Amino acid sequence: MAKETGRNNFKFYTPALAERVVTQSIIAERIKQALGRDEFHLHYQPLVDMQTNRVVSVEALLRWPRHGTGPDRFIQVAEATGLIGRIGEWVLSAACRQQSDWQAQGLPVIPIAVNVSASEFRKKNFVDYLESMIERHRINPSSIQIELTETAVMQDIDHAISILDSLRNKGLKVALDDFGTGYSSLNYLSRLPLDKIKVDKSFVHRLEDDTASRAITEAIIALGRTLNLEIVAEGIESAPVMDYLRRHGCHQAQGFFVCRPILGSDFASWYRDHDNPGPSYH
Ligand code: C2E
Ligand code: MG
Ligand code: MG
Ligand code: MG
Repeated sequence: MAKETGRNNFKFYTPALAERVVTQSIIAERIKQALGRDEFHLHYQPLVDMQTNRVVSVEALLRWPRHGTGPDRFIQVAEATGLIGRIGEWVLSAACRQQSDWQAQGLPVIPIAVNVSASEFRKKNFVDYLESMIERHRINPSSIQIELTETAVMQDIDHAISILDSLRNKGLKVALDDFGTGYSSLNYLSRLPLDKIKVDKSFVHRLEDDTASRAITEAIIALGRTLNLEIVAEGIESAPVMDYLRRHGCHQAQGFFVCRPILGSDFASWYRDHDNPGPSYH
């Protein structure tokens, strides 16, 4: 790790940092190759309405089978090495392509939510670029949604507000992802033009045995409801957790209990099996 040395503020390098930089540059090289060789693909994980069990949207999640780690790690490298722009473009165009494929297969429009990194979101032409990508694929703007982390929006709140406004004016919904793990300024949250917040899975995973996680989750749900936001819980792995969240007023569910992230080509049949108007909890 680089350490800040007081007032002089210069950094010195430790072996651990050196090793990380080397690993990083190796992964970065592999990312460049992978982009050229079409080694990435997307998985899709449905979000369902807690009351009706119907599919509300799906989240696109990046996969790189050859690399062997999940996106958390290589996305971090892509962000640190400036490659995230190219990955983000690939993800967005793949999601748009999938959307028009599903529509060609006769599926109703199920919005695809795409994770967008802070640096992509801050790019000057982000909104125009997004719009032109959507137009190029001849899909409706409301069939694409954006997921952002608190870090992405809190860095320059006024700028973020204006970008969020223009996205929503074009018909795109915006979610604040991993909610509760970032800066979490409640004051800012009320100013942000958002559609939904996603309760981070770290809280959801601890719901059954940790009082604090239950308290935080209930507070987030109450806050979201007060601000008229849709509330999603991610990482739901069991029926009791699903029931608990439903009872406490959470709107939507995402997690292995509902469906694991799956290939776009497998989603259509999963959807047809799942989305009959099943049990209703009204
Ligand atoms: P995220 O956006 O919060 O995505 C949700 C993560 O939770 C996904 O991890 C998903 O597979 C996982 N998940 C869903 N349900 C469950 C469950 O029931 N139990 C458990 N244990 N996990 C569950 P994944 O796919 O490994 O992605 C990790 C993170 O990488 C994402 O977190 C997102 O921040 C980032 N990411 C993924 N794809 C992209 C992308 O295309 N672009 C960018 N910028 N980031 C991405
Ligand atoms: Mg997400
Ligand atoms: Mg999340
Ligand atoms: Mg995450």
